[in-house]
Amino acid sequence: MLLDHIGVRGLPHEKVTTALWRKIQSLVIAVEGELKTSDGRLMGRLDLLLADVDDEGKLSGWVVADFKTGRAPEGTLKSEVNRQLLMYRDILLSNNPNAPPVIAEGWYTKTSAKWEAKGENVLEQAFAAWEKTQPTALPMAPQIGDESCGGFCDWKAWCPHWWKWRSDNGTLHKADFADAVILLHDVDLESGAAAIELCEPLDDSGRVLPSGVRNSAKFDGRGLEALKELLDTGHQGPIFVGSVMTQGRAWRIGHWCDVLPWDPIPDDIEYHREY
Ligand code: SF4
Repeated sequence: MLLDHIGVRGLPHEKVTTALWRKIQSLVIAVEGELKTSDGRLMGRLDLLLADVDDEGKLSGWVVADFKTGRAPEGTLKSEVNRQLLMYRDILLSNNPNAPPVIAEGWYTKTSAKWEAKGENVLEQAFAAWEKTQPTALPMAPQIGDESCGGFCDWKAWCPHWWKWRSDNGTLHKADFADAVILLHDVDLESGAAAIELCEPLDDSGRVLPSGVRNSAKFDGRGLEALKELLDTGHQGPIFVGSVMTQGRAWRIGHWCDVLPWDPIPDDIEYHREY
């Protein structure tokens, strides 16, 4: 692919001369270079930046080459790959206002195919996306539903909404792997055997109503370690347990489970992180 960049095609590797290799090297501007906007908000890492020269050897442009080891595109570059390459191009251009024309290419090593990214400048969109990653003082509007809360969500220990939603639609504690808020009545920290009480939501703020329903449970592996760590902090209140295996006589809270204090963040309380 490098030989192709200087217009040499079909040359067996053993015929590559030092002079040819030097020529390629003379066109390399950067290898594994960091790309960063001047305000530090957007970053990327380019594999290779090459100079392009015309027939007289005069600089005619820059080529950002990003190596891709996956399957080469069929027909067109995937939109996310196209966007990534354009972002590299546009960061480079924003940092080098006097740069020659810049193109960005995906270099697919399996087939030696080169695909040029096409499109308008993407930096404005990229900055808008960056803004959306910033923490907000108030929790963002919940996206309650089967697709979101019903699946895997990392934030359940801090979010009251999945709980009320499950309680209202009658699916609380019903699945083979269920999330729950429990009270711990008794535990043997050697064996992990425990007596727990299932809780229900009092309202949509996450306040707890003990249900009187008792279950036996077995904490083990990382699940037991997490419980010990939690108890070591002096925690006494309700506990969030995520993805508990509910089939069988005792609930199984193993290495795949979250075990965290139940302390959801209400929707209307401003939260300011202290740095
Ligand atoms: S549990 Fe809360 S944070 Fe997670 S998807 Fe549902 S509403 Fe969003």
